Amino acid sequence: MPAQLIDGNALAKKVRLEIATRTAILTAKGVKPGLAVLLVGEDPASQVYVRNKVKACEDVGMHSILERHPADLSEDKLLQRIAELNLDASIHGILVQLPLPKHIDSHRVIEAIAPEKDVDGFHVANAGALMIGAPLFRPCTPYGCMKMLESIEYPIKGARAVIVGASNIVGKPMAMLLLQAGATVTICNSKTKDLPAHTKEADILVVATGKPKMITGNMVKPGAIVIDVGINRLPDGKLCGDVDFDEVKYVAGAITPVPGGVGPMTIAMLLRNTLRCYALNSTKES
Ligand code: NDP
Repeated sequence: MPAQLIDGNALAKKVRLEIATRTAILTAKGVKPGLAVLLVGEDPASQVYVRNKVKACEDVGMHSILERHPADLSEDKLLQRIAELNLDASIHGILVQLPLPKHIDSHRVIEAIAPEKDVDGFHVANAGALMIGAPLFRPCTPYGCMKMLESIEYPIKGARAVIVGASNIVGKPMAMLLLQAGATVTICNSKTKDLPAHTKEADILVVATGKPKMITGNMVKPGAIVIDVGINRLPDGKLCGDVDFDEVKYVAGAITPVPGGVGPMTIAMLLRNTLRCYALNSTKES
C-alpha cells in the first residue's frame, strides 16, 4: 500500500490562515509586521523563490518589500543597505536570498543582519542559540519539516533519524531540531561510506542534497517517514525531489511530495518567523 502523503500545501494553508488572523489583529492596532527581501542578480530559481515569499506576505496582510539589485552590486553597497534596513522601524525581518554572486561573501552579509531581524535564522548568533536549545528563530525549512512530522503525530522521542545533507541552512539545523525533540540523529554527507547502510536504519529520513531522486526504494526502511527537502528541475522542466518518490512511496510509511511538500511549509514558516521578528523588535522598542 502506498505511503501516507504529508500534504505540505494543506498544512501551509492552515498556518497561513492562523498568521493572517494574527496579522489582522496587529494591523487593527496600527502596526504591520514587515519583511524586506533582497535579491542580487538574476538567478531564475531565486527569482521564483523571492516572488513567492513576497506574495505570501501580501496574502496574509503583511508589509513586504522586494529589492532587486544587479548582479554586479558591490558587497559594500549590500552591507550598507542591510545597515539601513536594520534601523528601519517598518521592517521587522530581513531576508537576503542565497546564493549570492561569487564576489560577495555570504557569511559577511548574513552577519550584517541584526540577529533579531534575521528571519532565516542563519546569523551565527542564531545558529549558536539553536545549538544550545534556545533559538530566537528556527531556520524556515527545518522548522517546516518539524511541523510536518508534528502533523502526523510521529513519536520523535527515541526514533532513529538520519539526515542526508549537512548544509548550514538545512541539514545541520534539522539535526539540532530532531536531537532536541529526542531523536537519535545521524548526519550524512557526500563522503559518507555506505550511505544505504545509514538510510536503511532511519525511522525518520530527511534528504537535502540537491541530487535528483538519489534515495531509491531499496535505501529506505519499510514504514519510515521520508521528508524530501530537495527541489530539482529536470531537463523536461518538471520538478522533482532528492527522493525517488515513485519507488519510495511503496516502502515508506509516510512521505512528502515534491512539489507540494517542504517548499510551501518553508514559506509558511518564513511568515511565522516574520511575526516572531515583529514581536522581538516591538519588545525592544517598548
Ligand atoms: P547544499 O549544496 O548546501 O548541501 C548539500 C549537502 O548534501 C552537503 O552537505 C553535501 O555533502 C550533501 N551531499 C551531496 N551529495 C551527496 C551524496 N551523494 N550523498 C550524501 N550527501 C550528499 O544544499 P542545500 O542544503 O542548500 O539544499 C539541498 C536541497 O534542498 C537542494 O535541492 C535545494 O534546492 C533544496 N532546498 C529546498 C528548500 C525548500 O524550501 N524545499 C529550501 C532549501 C533548500 P558535503 O557537505 O560533503 O558537500
